[in-house]
Amino acid sequence: MLQLVPNLARLGTETAFEVLARADALQRQGKSIINLGIGQPDFKTPAHIVEAAIKALKDGHHGYTPAQGILPLREAVAKDLKRRHGVDVHPDTIVIWPGGKPTMFFSILIFGQPGAEIMYPDPGFPIYRSMIEYTGAKPVPIVQNEANQFSFTADQVLSQITPKTSLIILNSPGNPCGGTASKEEIAKLIAGLEKHPNVAIMSDEIYSQMLYGGREHESFLRYPEIRDRLIVLDGWSKTYAMTGWRLGFSVWPKALVDKVVRLAVNCHSCVNAPTQYGGIAALEGPQDEVVKMVAAFDERRRIIVPLLNQLPGVTCLDPGGAFYVFPNITGTGMDARTLQNKMLEEAGVATVAGTSFGIHGEGYIRFSYANSVDNIREAIKRVAALLRG
Ligand code: PLP
Repeated sequence: MLQLVPNLARLGTETAFEVLARADALQRQGKSIINLGIGQPDFKTPAHIVEAAIKALKDGHHGYTPAQGILPLREAVAKDLKRRHGVDVHPDTIVIWPGGKPTMFFSILIFGQPGAEIMYPDPGFPIYRSMIEYTGAKPVPIVQNEANQFSFTADQVLSQITPKTSLIILNSPGNPCGGTASKEEIAKLIAGLEKHPNVAIMSDEIYSQMLYGGREHESFLRYPEIRDRLIVLDGWSKTYAMTGWRLGFSVWPKALVDKVVRLAVNCHSCVNAPTQYGGIAALEGPQDEVVKMVAAFDERRRIIVPLLNQLPGVTCLDPGGAFYVFPNITGTGMDARTLQNKMLEEAGVATVAGTSFGIHGEGYIRFSYANSVDNIREAIKRVAALLRG
């Protein structure tokens, strides 16, 4: 009998990848599948980014880089944060990662242990809870209610802090609900955190450029009073259609940089070199393709929300961020997993059950609208036929 560590049994997963695999299998059997399950842009990475990575390889950038990421890339990130959030961030506090995920993985490893409590959004990105469980810490959900536009309130978060709370994870704009936290609520939370100086915050801002209807992103970086205990996760995957490149960054408290870079050295050494050059081109090059992609997501959001609201038994809020909607499906009489499976197997529409994002996701389904308008219309037509029987 192999002697595996018990933590493994507590590790969760991201069901979106399972749905993707099942959708691919059905497609290979000749079924027509529209994928509104996976959370990735349907656009190509802008050409100048691809060219920069190819050039980097041709120029001989094929070796190891510093584990923290090459300095020109960290400088480009610092400039980007200044441009977008109006804040000064020193490149020495920026760490480059293979994607957005490693920042949550390592921050949870740093703060999670038996006896500690870590707060995380529910419904929320499934890896938060999975990793918290893995470390043996107690997962404490921040319930993101439809009644509260799928966001958190400062009071709700502050009231759950105990002497054991080591880390609070927040995500706005959020996956899977598209919820966006208001500036007022964030400011109130930060004010309340003054009384809890031993609590760290990890703000997942990977969808920070995807807000609609005049909403503006409020980065936690704008609050210098918590910078010594703030980790901000962001990256290229969603903004620049670069999910498969595996490139992300995070801003760390000065005192934690050495520790987290040491973890990087122990894990992956560095992000592959040409990808990092692609990242520089993304940040320093023209942003017009980003603007176009966000405009396309916005158009699709305005199409999918009313279409979902016309379905029998379905109501859909428009929380205004990321590229997801999270309709309430309780009126269909089915639970989320049953409806997810029926839509995939009988209507050829891949989505993800709300329960994949936590128990508070029951009664909801996540639709990603990172797909063409034609596909969205066809998918909803198929679901309408399914629900109308
Ligand atoms: N954070 C959130 C909220 C996400 O939805 C995702 C991806 O779906 C990530 C982080 C991870 O991004 P990456 O693919 O860059 O690891």
